Amino acid sequence: MPDIRKIKRKLKKAGFGSIEVSEKLGGVWLRGELDEYEQILECGRLAVDKKTSRGVINDIRLKGYIPAPMRIPSLRDNLYEGRTPDVLVVGGGIVGCAIARELSRYDINVMLAEKEYDIATGQSARNDGMIHAGIDLKPDSIKVKYNMRGNKLYDTLSKELDVPVRKVGQYVLLTKKWHKLLYPVVVLRARKNNIPIRYVCQKELDRKIPKIGYRHGAMFFAGAGIVSPYLMCIALAENAVQNGAEICLNTAVTGIEHKDGRILSVATNRGTIYPKVVVNAAGVFSDVIAEQAGDRHFTIHPRKGVEAILDKKASRITDSVIGRFAMKSSTGKQHTKGGGIVRTIDGNILIGPSAVETPEREDESTTCESLDEVLVKQQGLTGELTRSDIITYFAGTRAATYEEEFIVEKSPVIQNLVQAAGIQSPGITAAPAIAEDIAKFCTEILSETKKIEKKKDFNPIRKGIPCVRELPIEERAALIKKNPDYGVIVCRCEEISKGEILDAIRSPIPATTLDAIKRRVRAGMGRCQGGFCSPVITRMIAEETGVGLLHVTKKGEGSELLTSYTKEVANDNL
Ligand SMILES: Cc1cc2nc3c(=O)[nH]c(=O)nc-3n(C[C@H](O)[C@H](O)[C@H](O)COP(=O)(O)OP(=O)(O)OC[C@H]3O[C@@H](n4cnc5c(N)ncnc54)[C@H](O)[C@@H]3O)c2cc1C
Repeated sequence: MPDIRKIKRKLKKAGFGSIEVSEKLGGVWLRGELDEYEQILECGRLAVDKKTSRGVINDIRLKGYIPAPMRIPSLRDNLYEGRTPDVLVVGGGIVGCAIARELSRYDINVMLAEKEYDIATGQSARNDGMIHAGIDLKPDSIKVKYNMRGNKLYDTLSKELDVPVRKVGQYVLLTKKWHKLLYPVVVLRARKNNIPIRYVCQKELDRKIPKIGYRHGAMFFAGAGIVSPYLMCIALAENAVQNGAEICLNTAVTGIEHKDGRILSVATNRGTIYPKVVVNAAGVFSDVIAEQAGDRHFTIHPRKGVEAILDKKASRITDSVIGRFAMKSSTGKQHTKGGGIVRTIDGNILIGPSAVETPEREDESTTCESLDEVLVKQQGLTGELTRSDIITYFAGTRAATYEEEFIVEKSPVIQNLVQAAGIQSPGITAAPAIAEDIAKFCTEILSETKKIEKKKDFNPIRKGIPCVRELPIEERAALIKKNPDYGVIVCRCEEISKGEILDAIRSPIPATTLDAIKRRVRAGMGRCQGGFCSPVITRMIAEETGVGLLHVTKKGEGSELLTSYTKEVANDNL
């Protein structure tokens, strides 16, 4: 049980005597109103007591501020009314999709509800795509446990799901001369976490990274790697579907009915579902789902990160990942590795992310200033970074808890609730390992009422869409001979063929928007950012799916690409 008196004293000492503090569900419950968001965060941090409390439930309101409601589709129908799956997974990010795949190994009925038009649109599409070595994680933390196991699982996943993963390693530059003195300490920590580490002298660095910003050598972690995070997410979900799981897009969970410590039903915009077990994998909304389900013992305070992507011609900067050595801030406020430079799996250079606390969970906006901040900071690493190389940028919000820890648990309060919540970085790395444990928890709960067996015909293999431009010339010619669509280039920057785009539209989770196609085959991701290929792809989507051209969208409802016809055209699909 948390020591409420102690926490009250701490808050009072810091000038927050007006805040009400009490115990709730084994956590610390804060209530009241404050003038500034930073003050609310400060109270949350002061209330952390990992030894005795389950978490901080921070319900302090920001004076005069009403948070934006969760984005949900306007669609209302009864498609899933009355369905009774064994497990309902809430959230189609990498964690939810990895869980759905793990569950599809068993002879049970699995549904996944994702509120957006596609899977992998939240944090899971808006990150660095790094498979972390795990060096900056505290030994014995939950994060390190799942990071290390997840890192290992990526090698198998890559083969089974046909998604490229490259263990390129990570250079952590020593920015001050005295940092060398800390090297033995880092080695000790690395050994504790079983992480290979090597000192790289300046001479070797000069060969590897042009115009390097610091002159004191670096540490090299060979275990770090890169992956396309959204492609891995899509592959996990597709393989789950191939093994019987059902992915329900445009399906938002809007309420959960529970009684006497059990979830009875889950309300969605597409009908009420009656699952035997509910898995909370809702990312930045995981505390909202926990509240609805009756076990919110933590709070998500979103932390936004801005990133920029550079043209492939800037790829000379590095073939791996570069970061700088950073000491943890003494205030405990700073929770970023300081960002860095990543050569993505597709050969672009990615710089960032920043780390800014925001009360808005779905704030994906970027500004000139935020982009400048990222650029200037990373220019310190190498003089090769220039603004004109930036081709696009984006932002994602991390699902941070005040404990800065993952929550991976069978709820002790609600018998049929399992939570994979507060999964911030390194969630991409950790997801496959988290999924193993969550699937175990679900089958344990289900076993209380029926015998749960593994499927005899589970097939872990998923074949991806062929990447025509990377095929050897003979294989490419053979493919085009078989299907001439692979010889028609639609996206000129990335050299993506009509055949690949059609494969994406016809895939197990059909890509029916421009962005969904982009995530699957990279059409529109090059220098011109879809300037040339978007009209062609829009027409292909309309023709393949049968929706009118005016209804094709960039990223779901509200992002229609065309508003009206300017010429008389004979087309039944208008
Ligand atoms: C800028 C940035 C950089 C990062 N870099 C890395 C990195 O290099 N390596 C790494 O390992 N990790 C990294 N991370 C962390 C990683 O991206 C996340 O930990 C991971 O994606 C979390 O996955 P998730 O499935 O839990 O959440 P999400 O991907 O956010 O998925 C949650 C899903 O739930 C859905 N949802 C929410 N509420 C509802 C509802 N009521 N009904 C239905 N659906 C709902 C959302 O729409 C969303 O799709 C980074 C994160 C950020 C923001």
